[in-house]
Order: sequence, then C-alpha cells, then structure tokens
Amino acid sequence: MRRPTLSITLSLTLAAACVFAGGCFRSKADVAKKAAPAKPVPPAIDYATIRPNELGFIPVVMYHEIGGKPVRRDPSLVRPVEAFKKDLELLYAAGFRPVNLSDVLEDNIDVPPGTSPVVLTFDDGRESQFRLIETATAYKVDPNSAMGILQAFSKQHPDWKMRATFFVLPKSNSTLEVFGQPGLGKEKLEYLLTQGMEIGNHSIHHRSMRRMTPAQIQAEIGGAHNLLMEAAPNARITAVALPMGVYPDKKNWPYLTKGTFQGKSYEYKAAMQAAWRPVPSPAAKEFDSMQLERISPADGTNGLRYWITKMTQSGEYPRYVSDGDAKVVSFPKGDEGRADIARLEGRQKLVYAYGDGGAGGGSKPIVSEADEGNTSPAPAGTAAPAVSAKPIVGG
Ligand SMILES: [Zn+2]
Repeated sequence: MRRPTLSITLSLTLAAACVFAGGCFRSKADVAKKAAPAKPVPPAIDYATIRPNELGFIPVVMYHEIGGKPVRRDPSLVRPVEAFKKDLELLYAAGFRPVNLSDVLEDNIDVPPGTSPVVLTFDDGRESQFRLIETATAYKVDPNSAMGILQAFSKQHPDWKMRATFFVLPKSNSTLEVFGQPGLGKEKLEYLLTQGMEIGNHSIHHRSMRRMTPAQIQAEIGGAHNLLMEAAPNARITAVALPMGVYPDKKNWPYLTKGTFQGKSYEYKAAMQAAWRPVPSPAAKEFDSMQLERISPADGTNGLRYWITKMTQSGEYPRYVSDGDAKVVSFPKGDEGRADIARLEGRQKLVYAYGDGGAGGGSKPIVSEADEGNTSPAPAGTAAPAVSAKPIVGG
C-alpha cells in the first residue's frame, strides 16, 4: 500500500518501533552478524513506511541579498528577512534538512531516514548574508543577516544543521572585502567554516565568461581560488558558480573545474548555473556536474514554494527521500534504469531497489563487489553514520 508522506516524527517513531519490536525485515542482531564481511547492508528502517527515494531531486536554493525590498525586475535577488525565515520554516516542515553542496557532489548525503536534503547557496559574498556587529568585547553575528537567522533557526531546531554554501567574491586589488565590512572578511570566512558551512568560487570580477579565453577563465577562477585559500587555508572549495550563470564557449568548459593560475592549481567537482529546476540525485544518470541548476527563493512559478509542492507530488520531479545511510542508495523497484550503477559501484555504494511492500518485498539488492573489507555497515536504528570524516563539525 502506498502511503502519503508522513510527518518526520511519525516516520522516525515507526522506524524506532520497528527496531525494538524486531518485526522488520532485519533485526539489529542480524545486522551485527552481517557486519563480519564488512559490506554495507540496507539500514533497518521500515521501507514500506519511509519509502526512501535516493534517485529523487534535490533543491539547491540560490540567495543573493537578505533583507530589504524585493526588486521588481528580478524578485529572486532580494529576499526580505521575514520571507527568508518563512523559507526555512517551510523547508523544515516539509521534511527538508540542509546539506552542503559538496555533500551532494560527493554523494555523501547524511540526513535522517525519511527526510530530504536541501542546499542553501548564497552568491556574491554580500554583507547582508553575514554581518558582524561590534560590541565592547566581541563581534556579534547580526541576527538579521543570513548567518544570524540560520544560527537562531538551528538553535531552535537542533536537527537543522549549520550547512550552506557561500559563493563569494574574494577581496582583491579591484574588489571589495568579502561580506562587505572592511577588515573582517578573513575572519568571517574562517568562522563560517567552523560553523560547518562552506565556501564556493564565484570568480574575482563577476564578469560574463561568454567570450573568455582559457587564460582569462583561469585568471578569474584560479585567481579567486588563490585569494580565497590565502584568506581561509582550511577551505575545501569544490564548485564554481558562474557569474550570472553565463558559460564560456563549450570547448573551454574544462577550465571551469580544472586549471592553473600563477603556479597554483584548482580542481573542482562542479559548475553551477543560475536557473531553475531542482538537481537530480548524484546517484542518477542524469546528474550533470557541469550544469547544475539552482532554484529561486521567490514566490510564484519556479520559486521555492512551487518546487516543494511539485516535488512532493508524484510526477516528473520526485524528491530525494533518504534511507538514513549514506553508504546505501535505496529507491523503489522499477527505477533501476535511472541509477548510475557503474558510478555507484565505484563509490562502494550498495544499490538497493525495494519492492512495493517495502524491503524484502521481492526485490534483490545489487551488491557491489568492489567494497570488500573497507566499509562498515550502518548501526541499526540510528541516524546515518558518517561515511568519511567530515571536514567540519557543525556548531
Ligand atoms: Zn553573482
């Protein structure tokens, strides 16, 4: 029986009940025994209830200015503070939990079973995204900047982690300080990393790359990379967001993610566009890391609300629903054709298509042979384990 999406609390309660009653397809003891060959196994969740779909779509929301009046020409450019807070409430209530973009790019999505990942991105390194207020003894995060709003939201909802990707413009001889306030850019970059968030590359000068030569592209992206790494040596930059979403000539696309400038090289996993749909799962064949789209937070067609509604209905853009185990890629039987099996086996994932009645409903897992001895299974009934050490712990 297909059920409508349940509330998160209910899903988790059922999953826990399932473990304690031992009435599900695999008990905790069985999983422990199964641990010996060290192959990933499907997590001990109630598949029939949670119905994970790890081939589904993920919204990557693109913010610019936080606070102020919306611009009529492009309503997505300014998100008033109250609207931004409502976006977070909406996402939370709909079962979304934030991950960094690199978690998607590296197919390491660690959110609880039954929830869906969302990526919040912020472009241009604007002051309204991260403002500090100087007091007698310290710098306080402005509660009305994106960073302050996210911290308050996370405090109120501890399962909403501090995750977001800031595509900033570095401070250079011809550009201003990152996040506006002179002298505080470096400190802010370091701080957001310690919070668990990440930095992305948005070039130096924010110019259209349409007619740029390979040398010019590398000067923009590699130049920004070098300046950012100088300011925040602990940063791990994995993506570039193209200014205005404009691509160079296709033959020069390789320089968007790989190149050298002034003797230092950069190597990224993805290039981001500015428009307009949710991205496919990194486990899906149609995932195209060179043309990842983002959605606008604005109200109306193709905005955040529009897409959340659309992704929750059955149809062309089903949402990604996690099984809670980043080592296992679960999806309903019948969708096997959409999974990029070769890529997933290379990543040592267990690809698991479950039947209509849930796990054990007649489907057989496809087990990778490449993962012998180097993975540990999910502890049953717990939140998803960390697959590899995360660079930063949320604060
Ligand atoms: Zn921009």
